[in-house]
Amino acid sequence: MKKPLFATKSAKSLSPMQIHQGRLTQANWMASSNFNARPEGTDISLIVIHNISLPPDQFKKTDVNGLHYVKAFFTNSLDWEAHPYFKTIEGMQVSTHLFIERSGEITQFVNFEDRAWHAGRSSYLGKTECNDYSIGIELEGSDNQPFTKEQYMALASAIAAIYKAYPKTHRHLIGHSDIAPGRKTDPGKYFEWNKLRDLVGQRNT
Ligand SMILES: [Zn+2]
Repeated sequence: MKKPLFATKSAKSLSPMQIHQGRLTQANWMASSNFNARPEGTDISLIVIHNISLPPDQFKKTDVNGLHYVKAFFTNSLDWEAHPYFKTIEGMQVSTHLFIERSGEITQFVNFEDRAWHAGRSSYLGKTECNDYSIGIELEGSDNQPFTKEQYMALASAIAAIYKAYPKTHRHLIGHSDIAPGRKTDPGKYFEWNKLRDLVGQRNT
């Protein structure tokens, strides 16, 4: 069976992004089954930044159907035989709320109101299980290479929209390595936190 082709939206526009019913309206929507409900009464109060590339350090790679490997991974449709590295992550069921490609294009896999599976064992300010109360954002990238200008722009606009829709996330912006030290290293030393904060600040005024 042929996989469907997915329509794309441009994230280049500088007009503010918006969240409606748990979805970023400027993102492409691609449903992942890797999610569950947040614990009842949970306030969304943290944003976690990650990087991912499949295979590692390679960008924009797609399967034979033209589906981005990372998108295939988050939707349980990655062909584990397609690359030797994929055997090492075979069967893993993970997801993210947002994935931002090198071009700045954004895809959403899980509704913000639901719990995506991105952080794993983790702790922030003494509260464990960060997946319960956080929003996960994956940037296509690695610990060994800079991110693109388009990614910072798209990320900052998305964060500004999240701050507005979920005010308790404000000032609680962190890297995966900060909530899972020793176990995770992303988003890595090339990620420019000051640049991101400046761009988010410009969008909040
Ligand atoms: Zn991560």
